[in-house]
Order: sequence, then structure tokens, then C-alpha cells
Amino acid sequence: MKNLTYFLDQPGGNFTATTELISEPGPGEIRLRTLKTSVCQSDVVIHQQGLPRIKQWPAILFHEACCVVDAVGSGVEEYVSGDLVGLGCDIPCGDLSCIYCGINGTGDWTSCPNTQATGHEFPGFARLYTILPDWFVKLGPIVKFPKDFDPSYACQLEPLACCLEGMTRVNNCIENRIVVLIGAGSQSTYALQCAQAMNARKIIVINRGKDRLERVMKDFGDDNVLGIRWDEQVVDNVFKACQPFNEPHFLMVNAPCREAYELAPNLMGYGTVLDGHAGVKGASGKPKIPHQVDLNNDIHYRLQCYQATHGSSMHGIRLAHQFLTEGRLPKIGLMTNDTERFQHTKLDAAITRASDSDSLKVIVDWDQ
Ligand SMILES: [Zn+2]
Ligand SMILES: [Zn+2]
Repeated sequence: MKNLTYFLDQPGGNFTATTELISEPGPGEIRLRTLKTSVCQSDVVIHQQGLPRIKQWPAILFHEACCVVDAVGSGVEEYVSGDLVGLGCDIPCGDLSCIYCGINGTGDWTSCPNTQATGHEFPGFARLYTILPDWFVKLGPIVKFPKDFDPSYACQLEPLACCLEGMTRVNNCIENRIVVLIGAGSQSTYALQCAQAMNARKIIVINRGKDRLERVMKDFGDDNVLGIRWDEQVVDNVFKACQPFNEPHFLMVNAPCREAYELAPNLMGYGTVLDGHAGVKGASGKPKIPHQVDLNNDIHYRLQCYQATHGSSMHGIRLAHQFLTEGRLPKIGLMTNDTERFQHTKLDAAITRASDSDSLKVIVDWDQ
């Protein structure tokens, strides 16, 4: 049968639709039909300037996907055709004996020196059909959703999983606590909703731009949520908002810039957990952002915790699946408005919209 694939010819280039034949899935393989893909900020970066991880051009983008199982190869018992599935981005390296990704591995795929991700080293879902290899089917981040589950929510499994990895790597820092989110993009908006679901005491969102912060406050705010502009007074204003506590308990850096890492340590106090969630990357690589920590006074006596997460393992994928299927994120539909939905024939426009300063989550429809 025929498949339709969109190749991005080069960084800063255009998508070209290509029709080619796709075979039946072989032993252990499954064939997926793409229903929805959502656009990640990394897709915007790849589209504009490329990414060192992508060595092969033309490239097939998109790693946030909801698909339906279209056909299964011999020996596949976990899936049947018609299953609705969501997928993660970080995937095992494919070596079944790998200490991270293999059958007896730790599951910390992103620690594997040969780690790979869909839409990066592994071709993404900017195509109607995809055949997944046997190791992906066996070990990879695939979860089933109820058949009537909204694919527009299921395709957001992966970004949500990444967010939940950051919020759960350290225990007891969200429930009944004060959560501060730096940035008001999609990761902070997922974190805001997760913190609400996990009964945070107060959630403070810091953002430089007014547009996105207003949108997030209007659609996701409640009595326990506060938006604060990132200006000269931001540190004072955050500490004031934490009262009667003197500091936030959980602090998540979701803005991928040096300034966010310079701000975050100033917001730490007694017992604060900092999640360095967004990495900083420029054309010249990953810059050094030094910061001095007193291991005795800050770490031991003030119980501060500096940690980071990037990407997601099955831990985050399972949690995200749970949050979605249990309906714990009732406002997730508001992440995408009418101006953020595109047909697959309009991929350039979809990515351009995702780069706008007020945009939260762009979704591409493949099923119409
Ligand atoms: Zn993503
Ligand atoms: Zn591995």
C-alpha cells in the first residue's frame, strides 16, 4: 500500500510530500496509522536551524504522536489492529542486552550512550503510516488508550511525560507545597495542571511576555494560581507570594535560557527542590552556566536539592497515561485553540504558529 511522508529537506527548509510503498509488518513488528501529532518546541528549532542530533537529511520530524495500530506482524501478542496508542519520544537503543535499554536494563534510556529519539535519530511521525521494529514494540514507550479516548489528548502523552518526570524525581515536593514555574510555555502549562491535580498549595507562574502569561492565567488559573511578570522585582514578588512560607518548595526551570538559570538559584530557600528542566542550547553548543553551591550550608543544612530531568522513560510515560486516562487534567483541551489546529498538508504553517509568543500546543490532524 501507499504511504505519504513529509521530509524536511534541510534546516530552515521546506517539507516535501513523498509517496512511497509501505510493506506489511514483519515478525514482531507493528504498523501504525498516524491520527494526531502535536508540535514540540524542538520541532520549531529543528525546522528553523536543525539539531546536531539529526545527522541524516532530509529528516522526518514529529515525536508527539497518537496512532492507531493498523496491522501486526507474526508473533505480536501485545497489540491488535484497531488499538489506539500514544508514544514517547526517547526510545531504547535497540540492543536487547543494553544495561539501560535492554530486557534487564534499568529503563533509563536517556542515560544510554546510544540513546535515540523519534523525530531525531529515529524517523518521526510526519507520515501516514509507520512500521515499528520488533525491539520498539517489545521495549519502547507505547501505551494503549481506550478506543473512544480523544487522540488530540493522547498525542500529548510525551510532553506530559517529560513534565511529570521533572515533578516526581524527588518525592513530596508538590502536594500541599508552593510550586514556582519559570516560563509560561507548554511545559509550564502542563506542570501547572499537574500541580493542580496533585493538590499543590499554591502555583506561581513567572513569565517575561504578557501574552502567554495572560492566556495561561485566564484558561488555567484558579484561586491558588498566580502569574508574576519577570521583571526587576521578580525575586521579591515571588518571595512575597510564598508567604507565610519564606520560599518556594519546588522550582521548575521551563524557559530554555541562561537568564532562567541565573534567576532560579535566587529563588531557592529552605528545602527548595530545583528542577533544571529546560536545557540551554545555542548555535555554538551548550554554554557553561556556573553557580556556586555551599554543600554544607545550602545542601545539608538548608536541604536544597538541585536536580534535572530531560526526556522521559516508562516512569513518566505511565504517569502521563494515568493522568490522561483518569481525567485528572480536565483543561488540557484548552492548550490548543482553533488557530492551533492544522491539516498535515500545512506543516510549515503549523510550525510557524507553534513559534508564536502566545501559542501553547499546535496539533496536526492526519485522520481527515
Ligand atoms: Zn516534545
Ligand atoms: Zn541502550
